[in-house]
Amino acid sequence: MSAVYLDHNATAPIRPEALAAASEAMIAGGNPSSVHAAGRASRARMEQARTEVAELIAAPASTVIFTSGGTEANALAVESAVATGSRRLILSAIEHDAVLETARASGAQVELMPVDGSGQADLAWLTARLAAWDAADGRPFVALMLANNETGVIQPVAEAAVLVRQAEGWLHVDAVQAAGRIAIDSRALGADTLAISSHKIGGPPGAGALAFGPRATLVRRLHGGGQERGRRAGTENVPAIAGFGAAAAQARAELASAADQAAWRDAAERTLIAAGAVVMGQGAPRLPNTLCFAGPGFPAELQVMTLDLAGVMVSAGSACSSGKVKASRVLDAMGQTELAGAAIRVSGGWSTKPEDWKQMVEAWITAYDRHAARRRAPAA
Ligand code: PLP
Repeated sequence: MSAVYLDHNATAPIRPEALAAASEAMIAGGNPSSVHAAGRASRARMEQARTEVAELIAAPASTVIFTSGGTEANALAVESAVATGSRRLILSAIEHDAVLETARASGAQVELMPVDGSGQADLAWLTARLAAWDAADGRPFVALMLANNETGVIQPVAEAAVLVRQAEGWLHVDAVQAAGRIAIDSRALGADTLAISSHKIGGPPGAGALAFGPRATLVRRLHGGGQERGRRAGTENVPAIAGFGAAAAQARAELASAADQAAWRDAAERTLIAAGAVVMGQGAPRLPNTLCFAGPGFPAELQVMTLDLAGVMVSAGSACSSGKVKASRVLDAMGQTELAGAAIRVSGGWSTKPEDWKQMVEAWITAYDRHAARRRAPAA
């Protein structure tokens, strides 16, 4: 049986088009700031990638700043807001650590916007909170991700944008997981800043982007040269950026096949539920590629290891960078504290086939039944 990789939300396998573009750029070399022919060619590659990335999120290319990844793109937005006078930051309770920890480290006050049981942000709470805003806290800053990395639940970003705009605030949207999986129009969404990342869409790791609108003022985080219109110093990672551009173009072309991804996921979900699994965020709109579910009584770590032995690679609901599993604060925020330690995340993508989902389901049901039988067996 061949290995099955269903962990695209961690890192998607590199797309052949991205690999080709990245290696061509690496072989060609050149510094995009140099004025000679090699420099100009390097700049041309980078600007082509900027256009491709901008098209994926329907933003003007001139508003896209390349960064080292999603983490840095989020940090650029959060730190710019604080540097320009936001003293209190409202984050949805399910934001990625890249947003949460940057906000906590920024020196500003951090407040969490609750989510409901299906994992969607509570906009009634946001309405009330913004209505009671204290001018001493500066410009309201709200971070609401477009789709959650663990559950895939899509957030009501356009509705939140209306509220934030009325309050003359800044809405930051972490679209790292949504990009390439659902169509994104950053202007129609009303995002003031929007972050995406290359390695989640089949591009190389080490590249990301922040798109910014006219109501966001970005500050310099890295000092040195005048790269990225003076907003992000340092010689650009042109090979990764070229690969990011190629991946973005390919992902955009494949958005139409999202319905297939969703159909395979939904079929897997039905079989798993029948076998005793509990699906997280089932009642909410979700990314077509993501399935987060719990096997009651079956620790997530054990599920991941057992599936791995069966050749199926997935993540625990919340895997931190050390590889250790900690209780998921996303599922906790959804009121699923009891099941949080038993939840895993399965995520497909461009390289996924329907058989992959079937193999995962079979392996999981076998493992779950075996674990349940062992728990039922009287101790010797
Ligand atoms: N935001 C979300 C929602 C993510 O899922 C991730 C990665 O897991 C990041 C940000 C960080 O992106 P990167 O790994 O490119 O720094």
